[in-house]
Amino acid sequence: MTINGMTRTEEHRGASAELAPLPALATSSAAKAGATTATDHRVVIDCKIKKLYYGSFLAVRDTDISVSSNDITAFIGPSGCGKSTVLRCLNRMNDFVEGFRLDGAVHFQGQDIYAESIDPVAVRRSIGMVFQQPNPFAMSIANNVAFGLKLNRFKGNYEERIEQSLRAAALWDEVKDKLDDSGLSLSGGQQQRLCIARAIAVEPELLLMDEPCSALDPIATRKIEELMLELKKKYTIAIVTHNLQQAQRVADQTAFFFVDTSAGGRTGYLIEHRKTADLFGDPREDRTKEYIRGEFS
Ligand code: ADP
Repeated sequence: MTINGMTRTEEHRGASAELAPLPALATSSAAKAGATTATDHRVVIDCKIKKLYYGSFLAVRDTDISVSSNDITAFIGPSGCGKSTVLRCLNRMNDFVEGFRLDGAVHFQGQDIYAESIDPVAVRRSIGMVFQQPNPFAMSIANNVAFGLKLNRFKGNYEERIEQSLRAAALWDEVKDKLDDSGLSLSGGQQQRLCIARAIAVEPELLLMDEPCSALDPIATRKIEELMLELKKKYTIAIVTHNLQQAQRVADQTAFFFVDTSAGGRTGYLIEHRKTADLFGDPREDRTKEYIRGEFS
């Protein structure tokens, strides 16, 4: 395979020299090295939002939510209740939105990711993201997967890591003979799995997925869901989904958001966050009951 932007020597310069921890998140990486097992459900990220604004618009209020290791946590609720906004807070993706302002704190492995000393690039390496619309770059399949590795000056074996990531994303068998073809030549479902491979190539601690199946057909959706269940053995996942059946199929925990229109605005907030079986089987709040019965869209 051809990997742009580096020589073969660079590609193979010592498999042991992996991704050096960036100083700002060095402690996190050390904590990560402390190993997580599927039974060790520690809190990976803890998000406390008092108020979140886009300009003068209060988009989210009073939302405390945490995500535990090796869980899949689903964010559900009607459109505009702030699910994607809260998800994007978890890896500072909202920083790119002009007027974004957070009154609150997000602690990832004990560190406030909004603290001045923290490098947002390091945050996004530890907390990867997959978007609603598959968005492979206009480059080869191999280079798509290598992208984050290069960005983070990965010093290990690129070919090995690319294969490993594509295998983990359940895409290797379909692309192993055409790694130099454009990522854009793949089907929608394959493109989304390529984006997942790209996200996990840098071995993030947490993977955020913002409606990853909404642009896919049922068969491609099912493949991504199976993949998520496989990935959670190694990764922690938070997913925004409009699909209540999907939340029930894949999520260990589900957080239900709603929109408060009482003050004349439309402000999202968390209503309840519980084990998925409990939230759907025995919801505490009337709003949750009404929503899962299909009384809101
Ligand atoms: P959901 O994911 O639940 O559909 P969002 O988080 O996308 O909700 O949006 C919550 C609210 O914030 C909505 O009113 C939406 O219009 C607004 N919003 C989302 N993104 C932006 C943005 N980049 N700039 C301004 N307002 C935004």
